[in-house]
Amino acid sequence: MKINIKRFNQANEPQKFINEFEVSNTNLLQAFNEIKKEHDETLTYRCGCKSGVCGSCAVRVNGVERLACKTNINENDVIEPIKNSKVIKDLVVDVSHETLLIEKTNSFMQDNSDEEIEQKDINKIDRQSNCILCNSCYSSCPVYEANKSFLGPFALSRALRYSNDKKMANNDLIIDSIQSNGIWDCTLCGACTMVCPQGIDPKMDILQLQGLASQKGYTNPYQATYDSNMGFDMSDMGFDPNGSF
Ligand code: SF4
Ligand code: SF4
Repeated sequence: MKINIKRFNQANEPQKFINEFEVSNTNLLQAFNEIKKEHDETLTYRCGCKSGVCGSCAVRVNGVERLACKTNINENDVIEPIKNSKVIKDLVVDVSHETLLIEKTNSFMQDNSDEEIEQKDINKIDRQSNCILCNSCYSSCPVYEANKSFLGPFALSRALRYSNDKKMANNDLIIDSIQSNGIWDCTLCGACTMVCPQGIDPKMDILQLQGLASQKGYTNPYQATYDSNMGFDMSDMGFDPNGSF
């Protein structure tokens, strides 16, 4: 079977190129190993657990984010690195932004409460806790593509996880820190949800965070209201906002 790998080498002179390889393995990660062993030892990719747990082997297959270790390939598939991160070499990208995003959203245990934890409390944060930091959601996110300051899907799902954690004495800090370039900037397109290998739903998590923020008095800064700076006044249309129906 033939597969095509988009490659990038920035050593000396940066160059992009596509290589076609003939492989016998149908699992993508095993195909990478086969190529490295038998065809081109310079092919560079990441892998760790080889069983879908570490998230390090995420790539794009025909434009869709997949974990190489969990993907079966087809004739003429095109493999390339995940998007929206700087490519270091071939299929390896720089993922150092992860730590920064966790810090920016304050999504880590800071002030322990004395609350007793029950199973239902664990269930509430279980799904988001399963994130394997594969970065597929950032690769698929159109807002992150346009604005690298956007906090993005994984960090916001993590913000919900810690906001809902009973062991957090106070989640105000988290909710405060996700207002700018955060929950209101998401278009709710759902692309992140479609590609997450862990079944996490960042789109719904962001919607929940919008609800939590509203309860704390925050409003959507992009929401058009009557007589706003858009100059949209509904009374011009015969509608009296102070009248009764
Ligand atoms: S739902 Fe929001 S966070 Fe997810 S991909 Fe779309 S814009 Fe990005
Ligand atoms: S939320 Fe899903 S897609 Fe995003 S980094 Fe975590 S596991 Fe990967």
